[in-house]
Amino acid sequence: MSKEFSFEDIVCNINDAVMVTVVGSGSSHKQNIIYVNPAFTLLSGYRYDEVIGEPPEILYGPDTAQETRDKIHAAIKNKQSIHTEVLAYTKSGENCWLDLNIVPLQDDNSAVTQFLIIGRDLTEQKRMQQELHRLAHSDALTGIANRRHFMMLAKTEFYRAKRYRRPLTTIMFDLDNFKLLNELYGHQFGDETLKIVAENCQTLLRQSDIYGRLTGEKFAIVLPETSLEAAEELADRLCMLLCVIPFKCNSEDATVTASFGVTKISPMDKNLDDLLERVDAALYEAKASGRNTVKTIKPEPLVYMHQT
Ligand code: GH3
Ligand code: MG
Repeated sequence: MSKEFSFEDIVCNINDAVMVTVVGSGSSHKQNIIYVNPAFTLLSGYRYDEVIGEPPEILYGPDTAQETRDKIHAAIKNKQSIHTEVLAYTKSGENCWLDLNIVPLQDDNSAVTQFLIIGRDLTEQKRMQQELHRLAHSDALTGIANRRHFMMLAKTEFYRAKRYRRPLTTIMFDLDNFKLLNELYGHQFGDETLKIVAENCQTLLRQSDIYGRLTGEKFAIVLPETSLEAAEELADRLCMLLCVIPFKCNSEDATVTASFGVTKISPMDKNLDDLLERVDAALYEAKASGRNTVKTIKPEPLVYMHQT
């Protein structure tokens, strides 16, 4: 004769965390936990007796989105089912992403007094998604934005500045004689130099600045809401910063400098490429005038023709 399995037999053996709550009769629709399965205790770190009688909100934490909390609360209030993702917290305070299914349970009188909550652990999946996102957007060597991501962010800022006629400036810099540095000290030292340069330059930038590695030893910065004078000042400080960073290869001092181009958005610029072409030309001027310097190209002011 085949054995009959109870609800408990099944939920005790599944990997998903299961919780049953009872909803209070008051207008606050407060829930209390009346059952959790072993997968729940394993995942959350709470013992069975620690959670029984507690509200499910004990799993919420500082970064649990308020919007998600409100959505869940509304579903409970309206006695509806809901499928959502939530950032929960284990007993020890670790993040735990859950794919959450909340289902109302009807009693014999068809009244909803309890909810079945099934949570599937998404933490590893989320971590991998974040890692893939990071890899897709950042440069593998320096960790700053890669060319594609830089261009995407810069384009958004360019069109915003153009539309609202806001100031926007850009700096482009390229390490001087980097080929020679590689030849003298080796490619690995060159790589290390790029990392140190990228990291140190970032310390002088604002969070709102867009900063990326364009190609081998060429970097660019887009500075929203920044005047040409302020951008020039920043480029000067970056140029000086590189001169004072101690670059050492086997206790030998290596000289690392860069040339900088600076420009600002012009009403004549149709797209980001127009702005970047001009800053590239300014950088070329800095190279041509002996390197380790800053050159600025001021876009021509608009000349309005007055009809008489
Ligand atoms: P300039 O002052 O005119 O910019 O001269 P340069 O030698 O810096 O420029 P050039 O374009 O002649 O050479 C750039 C060198 O940068 C050549 C290339 O091997 C090196 N490079 C590009 N990417 C990397 C990288 O990721 N790591 C290392 N170590 N070197 C790189
Ligand atoms: Mg170079």
